[in-house]
Amino acid sequence: PIYFDYAATTPVHADVLKAMLPYFSEEFGNAGSSQHYYGWAAEEAIETSRKKISSYFGVQARQVVFTSGATESNNLCILGYLKDRPKGHLITSSIEHKAVLQVFQELSHQGWSVTYLQPNALGCIEVSDLEQAIRSDTTLISLMMVNNETGNVTDFQSISQLCKQANIIFHSDATQAIGKLDFTQYVHLPDLLSFSGHKIYGPKGIGGIIFNSNVALKPLTYGGGQERGLRPGTLPVQQIVALAACFDLMPLLIESVHKILTFKHKILKGLIGEYVLNSSDNQSVPHIISISIPNIDWEELYRRIPAIAVSNGSACNAKSHLPSHVMKAIGHSDALALSTLRISLSYLTHESDVDFLIDYLNKQLFNR
Ligand code: PMP
Repeated sequence: PIYFDYAATTPVHADVLKAMLPYFSEEFGNAGSSQHYYGWAAEEAIETSRKKISSYFGVQARQVVFTSGATESNNLCILGYLKDRPKGHLITSSIEHKAVLQVFQELSHQGWSVTYLQPNALGCIEVSDLEQAIRSDTTLISLMMVNNETGNVTDFQSISQLCKQANIIFHSDATQAIGKLDFTQYVHLPDLLSFSGHKIYGPKGIGGIIFNSNVALKPLTYGGGQERGLRPGTLPVQQIVALAACFDLMPLLIESVHKILTFKHKILKGLIGEYVLNSSDNQSVPHIISISIPNIDWEELYRRIPAIAVSNGSACNAKSHLPSHVMKAIGHSDALALSTLRISLSYLTHESDVDFLIDYLNKQLFNR
């Protein structure tokens, strides 16, 4: 099948693979704990990588922490900040990824009071709703930058400013934003930002946190003191070098956004049956197009389209066959929520793929 599921994961770019390969078997040292060449070489590779990533975000190298991926980053940001603090109020949204929502569910069991903001009719979180939800005991706000099911973008610049003024910590899951939004243009970053390598043409199992150095994070695991004690464990040098190499791809990724936008328009114009668009027209990244098809049940829907690899919403819900919580939050019935296709595009997508997709969906779903 032709791949249209780049929001689930991406192939490793050839340059990224090339960069990481020497660190498997030639430069295999253990960073930080060795008094010899091998350890020093590994440490140097890690610190060079850290510098490259930090400079992309315009922060200091010490503001980068490496993790195993965005799930761990989200957990460490939120739980690590709240650890040992007096229990107060937290704000997130009903359309966050499970790697944030489940954390809040746990916090709520622990006695924190949690407000879940609901999206507006276009599936976006409104800053004015956030402003209204803030209380005097609000400790932390977590809102994702780009929704993984709809591609909708949250106004994190305004929220960052708002949180700074209100003295509230702002965490944002930027997993779907990096490589799609141009971070070189942003002045206001969240206090805590999570991201993952495998969504930006890097390997699975590596991610990171960018954090404001005024924010006191506490570790969730204990060990050999790596990452200044915040995330102990022998550092996966090859994964870290690969993650840094992904940031060399940013010009390529950002340059392709315009092409991908023309593909999105072509797809939406080209589909000639009945569908509901779940992605905002002008407040979303063009890489993610979510549509729901009324009157075709989801099993039948997926039986009809074996030649394309698309997602039924969130990759993490794919096995459970439960309607996605994001589609439910937008207001869809269970049936409509289940009959959802998430088409996600990349700089690797060709116009001929898009043409095939349009013809194929029209034929298989709309009998045209
Ligand atoms: N947050 C978002 C928005 C995501 O799309 C994903 C990946 N589905 C994750 C978190 C989890 O990332 P990882 O696979 O790196 O743990």
